[in-house]
Amino acid sequence: MDSAATAKDSVAPADATTAPKDFERSKEHDFIGRHFQQFYKTHQVTVPSVSMREFGFGYEKKIDLRHKAFQSQKELQEYFISKVPLYASYSAAFYEYPAARPMSAKNFLKAELIFDLDASPDHEGHNPVMCSHCQESVRADVIRLLEDFLFADFGFSKDETTVNFSGSKGYHVHVASESLMQLSSTQRDQLVEYCAGMNVDFARFFNSEKHKNLPMVDRQVEVIVGPSTASKGWAKRILDRALAILVLPQDEFIAKFRKAGYTKKQAEAIFANKDYVASQLSSGRWSAIEKPDLLVAEIASTAGVGRNVSLDRAVTTDMSRLIRIPNTLHGDTGIVAKTIPFSELSSFDPTNSALAFDLSKTENVVALDHYDFFFAGSSHVLEKDRIAEVPLAVAMLLLCKKKALLL
Ligand SMILES: [Zn+2]
Repeated sequence: MDSAATAKDSVAPADATTAPKDFERSKEHDFIGRHFQQFYKTHQVTVPSVSMREFGFGYEKKIDLRHKAFQSQKELQEYFISKVPLYASYSAAFYEYPAARPMSAKNFLKAELIFDLDASPDHEGHNPVMCSHCQESVRADVIRLLEDFLFADFGFSKDETTVNFSGSKGYHVHVASESLMQLSSTQRDQLVEYCAGMNVDFARFFNSEKHKNLPMVDRQVEVIVGPSTASKGWAKRILDRALAILVLPQDEFIAKFRKAGYTKKQAEAIFANKDYVASQLSSGRWSAIEKPDLLVAEIASTAGVGRNVSLDRAVTTDMSRLIRIPNTLHGDTGIVAKTIPFSELSSFDPTNSALAFDLSKTENVVALDHYDFFFAGSSHVLEKDRIAEVPLAVAMLLLCKKKALLL
């Protein structure tokens, strides 16, 4: 399979440039299409450097056709209004000839740096309609990626970084500075590995020093020197995480050390000395704690991005990938793939801030199963095969997810 023809969640026919002819025309599909069209008649989709990007659109799959190009913003908007795609993607890459095929004929110029984070909906209690746990876990990792890695460790500028909700469960982080746009695929892969804490050699942050001239001691004393408050990057992250563990309440403290491989007795001994241990570690003196390698291994296994969610490495490294166009609708939800200001990220709720459709208008739908979920601050309970009058935004969500029918 030609990896250049793949896009997130879907595989496009390599040569498709028009919508599939056998596209199903159901009452529900027509309803969704009418509402999507109305959205695009009243909402401008703004794409920087529009004429240099490749576009892909989906009706049944996320991408049914690709290799599209537009000369202007106006031409793109007219496409949205006339063709009404359910999914709209563009290339993070800029090309001289974005519509050319095969990929090599496009003449690649540069590409935004993209990080793609998505929910792992395999947790207990996952809600198939709208899952707050999935939303919160991905958002937490996006914030960690931005604050701990992109801004703190790499020093990327906030002005050149944007965060985009995918319209469903995921988020995309775009970095568009001129120098980063020239990074190779291998260099991008190294950035992902660093953020995920993969292949980081944690042992190199620690040195064992033998001291033999201590008074009153007739043997060598091994001193382990490790990350201190003066450290940076992953070394500092290990220290910060260790200090955060040392201030946990006793039961959580013991549980954390037990999980790391310490005995209950060892954990209790460290707890009794935790203030001393914290001050020693801050100065880089890791001999203050027994078996520091166990604690470090535990921290290393949880401090990277993408531990509880999925960080899709291929989206960052494969520069021919197409990703959701910011501020277009997602065909699985009818929710806007909204660009989110950093200041709003920690409290972002797509069912409040990224709605395309009215909450005050209502629509009658018949649910295909029993559903119980929160949406825009309200609880919605629908019984299987029963008619329910729900806000238009909720009707669109259920219809897009194929979890309800119209009357
Ligand atoms: Zn979930």
